[in-house]
Amino acid sequence: MTFYIHTYGCQMNVRDSEAVAASLVAAGHTQVPAEDAADIVIVNTCSVREKAEEKALGKLGLLCASKRERPRRIIGVMGCMAQRMGQFVFERVPTLDFAVGCRAARLIPCVVADIEAGGGGRRWLTTDISDHDVPQGHLESDLAAFVTVLLGCNRRCSYCIVPAARGPEYSRPAKEIVDEVACLAERGVREVTLLGQSVLNYGRQREPVFDAPAPVGVAFTEPFPRLLEVVAKVPGISRIRFTSGHPSGCTEELARAFRDIPQVCPHLHLPVQSGSDRILKSMRRGYTAEQYLAAVERLRSFVPDIAITTDIIVGYPGETEADFEATRELMRRARFDNSFIFKFSPRPGTPAAQMSDDVSAEEKDRRNKVLLADQDDIGVANNALWIGREVEVLAEGPSLRNAERWSGRCGQNKIVIFDPEQGVGRGDLVKVKIVRANPQTLFGSIIV
Ligand code: SAM
Ligand code: SF4
Repeated sequence: MTFYIHTYGCQMNVRDSEAVAASLVAAGHTQVPAEDAADIVIVNTCSVREKAEEKALGKLGLLCASKRERPRRIIGVMGCMAQRMGQFVFERVPTLDFAVGCRAARLIPCVVADIEAGGGGRRWLTTDISDHDVPQGHLESDLAAFVTVLLGCNRRCSYCIVPAARGPEYSRPAKEIVDEVACLAERGVREVTLLGQSVLNYGRQREPVFDAPAPVGVAFTEPFPRLLEVVAKVPGISRIRFTSGHPSGCTEELARAFRDIPQVCPHLHLPVQSGSDRILKSMRRGYTAEQYLAAVERLRSFVPDIAITTDIIVGYPGETEADFEATRELMRRARFDNSFIFKFSPRPGTPAAQMSDDVSAEEKDRRNKVLLADQDDIGVANNALWIGREVEVLAEGPSLRNAERWSGRCGQNKIVIFDPEQGVGRGDLVKVKIVRANPQTLFGSIIV
């Protein structure tokens, strides 16, 4: 059969969808580039905000309606919303064929086989969260790939549905990760992004992730910096990224890993959520604004050019104008390279959903716009500092907007547009001198 997967949400979902696609291909199905041509359509869902769930439910409704003309079509849902809603998803979308939660995605080929073999009328629901269902298998590889290193999340931030949907933390053994990266490198991958909700927590729980403790006198003893070191040794891997960070993991060892392991890119996505200590405490983030800024400074003292990006929630319950201004102040001091701003959305079952959602929709909207404008100003100023300097770019090929020029990303994860040069191919690391910048993009020429 032919299949198509719609993916909403974070990079973790993108990775899960890829693993499901690889497993369906291994089972003999064919991936198609458009939903209309597909006999099986799967929607991989996000639960982080209510809007994301509404979108997915709307999409599933339309897909299931298409079964009137195409009765053999199989429609399924996977990911955080499937996990969170469980059987209720069938109440919202009655003709859905299957719902598979976050830690059972590997069962999808069997579910499809059962339905195909006449299990019609039977609905599949699998939401066991106790399993360690690590996404396995990659599709034909591009230059860059995601590798999941940590499943779930143990932090329980007051507003967040992820721990309920994705279950407790589980760190994969380092050897398994290195083997996966080595396989990818053999297939031409040059850049890997190691994924975990709070990725710097890797290996901090009970499970030993390395076969033996770090020998005395080695550079890195903490599990995540050690993981970076072993992944960097995989031949062919020229770049390593990871996401998302938490200030508690921004140790001196991590800062040294950024500085001393050449493959580790100088960029960290370090969600702050708020600049008000009162709100941070209610959010259960586990740090104050000053502790967050100290973590950023620690990284910058080792790697002055490191890019820091963040997530911020506006309109969290009880957020006053003074709390909001504290967030603006933190943004000015942290000089983020980019910020993703979200309006608070109460999620069922989370502690914040019990609080009064007392910031009006209009005020959330205003605060959102103010922070976006602030970030634009900071972005313009930050990017202007790159003019006249050199950056290292992983050449990706012709730019989407203008095929005459090429694009790629520098270590700081900024898009760089440059003129191609003879002898430079996709996947090469090139030095580019920056001549122009806007808030999102740098422009320059290759230095030969
Ligand atoms: N695990 C990552 C972390 O904590 O750094 C991010 C997880 S979440 C998928 C991505 C972002 O969504 C969060 O950093 C937060 O800003 C936002 N978010 C999570 N729950 C939210 C909610 N209930 N309302 C609005 N934004 C939310
Ligand atoms: Fe959610 Fe907090 Fe875990 Fe991120 S660290 S996934 S925001 S609970």
